[in-house]
Amino acid sequence: MIKTNLFWNPVIQTLPREKMQELQMRKFQKILKWAYDNSKFHHSLYKNAGIEPGDIKTFQDIKKVPKVEKSMMRSIQAKDPYPYGDMLCVPLDQVTTYRQTSGTTGQPVYQPDTWQDWEWWSESWAYWLYSQEYRKNDRVFMPFGYNIFVAFWAAHYAAEKIGCEVIPGGVMNTEQRLLKMQELHTSAFLATPTYVLGMADTARNNLGIDPRDLNIKRITVAGEPGGSIPGTRKRMEEAWDAKVFDHVGATEIGAWGGECAFQSGLHVNEAFFLVEIEDVDTGEIINEAGRKGKMVITALDRIAQPCIRFDAKDIIEWNKEQCECGSSFRLLEGGVQGRADDITKVKGVLLSPTSIEEVVRSIPELMDEYEVTVTKRGDIDDISIKVELNPEQESNKEAVHQKLTYQLRLKTNLNFNIKYCAAGSLPRWDVKARRFKDLRKKE
Ligand SMILES: [Zn+2]
Repeated sequence: MIKTNLFWNPVIQTLPREKMQELQMRKFQKILKWAYDNSKFHHSLYKNAGIEPGDIKTFQDIKKVPKVEKSMMRSIQAKDPYPYGDMLCVPLDQVTTYRQTSGTTGQPVYQPDTWQDWEWWSESWAYWLYSQEYRKNDRVFMPFGYNIFVAFWAAHYAAEKIGCEVIPGGVMNTEQRLLKMQELHTSAFLATPTYVLGMADTARNNLGIDPRDLNIKRITVAGEPGGSIPGTRKRMEEAWDAKVFDHVGATEIGAWGGECAFQSGLHVNEAFFLVEIEDVDTGEIINEAGRKGKMVITALDRIAQPCIRFDAKDIIEWNKEQCECGSSFRLLEGGVQGRADDITKVKGVLLSPTSIEEVVRSIPELMDEYEVTVTKRGDIDDISIKVELNPEQESNKEAVHQKLTYQLRLKTNLNFNIKYCAAGSLPRWDVKARRFKDLRKKE
């Protein structure tokens, strides 16, 4: 059995590049052998590709290791050992927790973890919270449904691990959560960007509380890309008068990326994860800054259901800058810029839904919500956007309209049909928002 080295060791973040790569290589070889020896799925995957764990000696060799996709995980589950199937690397009696993915399409992926995996989850989250200056004197509110999705569960334990006082705000509505935060003088909370904005609305409109008066110092967001979209971040920071930090993770992967107190972009926890960026067309691994590609990621310490060269389909690129915080964990430019699956062609132009959010949220006269619909008229694609104009800006409507039209055209190369809706009339989302609707018939 692999013993995870659960270090709480700030030194690891400042390892020189070569040392970091040595550590990653050592861990990669170990996890590869672990999966090969203990899971039938991985054993036959690697055998069929003609590789043995001992063949992988350099970073160049890693490319030979076949990638794993979500669809492969779905195809083996609901079989023995039930319900995980033969990707499982430990006896069933060592599994201590079940979670499943929350994606909006397809069958959820089941995720088993051992107790050691669970400690690893909270350890990796703790790195981010600590670097965002969460400390023992913080009182942290967790306004999310504690349920079958992993969401902020590991963050809860990470905050406890650092020594914060943690308040589980599970089965409460938004008003109750806000009142409890006010009553207990909480200093921080964690939520999706959509919910951070929604809570601010509820505080103002339903409770007559200005969220800025709640003295929240820091907010960590995850689950949606908003934390790395400048316009969305600005809205959140202004609504709460607090610093907002982005975090990224996934059920099948772990808590792989986060921002530090300097807010210079997402760091990758390279001591726990190996992130490769693959050119979407050529499959080449991109090591230089400034070139976008698809993330292929390995969780170097996860044992029950290993995540080895997982094809995450997140679009990312390396940042050339080194962070002022002194960490050698590399930075990503603009966080997760989108999903390879979400990037779609409209009128022959590649469109990433995050670029639309960037535009809407950067125009202060517009409210937070919007909705995009793509349809087909005959053979021609049609793209419309519904936005809400802030009622106080009614007299500026023409100027706002020009700005929105121009910015959408500039950022997406598309002309949108723009519709204005009454303030508050578009759907509000608590969890993962679905603001982009593609209603074209799939060929
Ligand atoms: Zn940093």
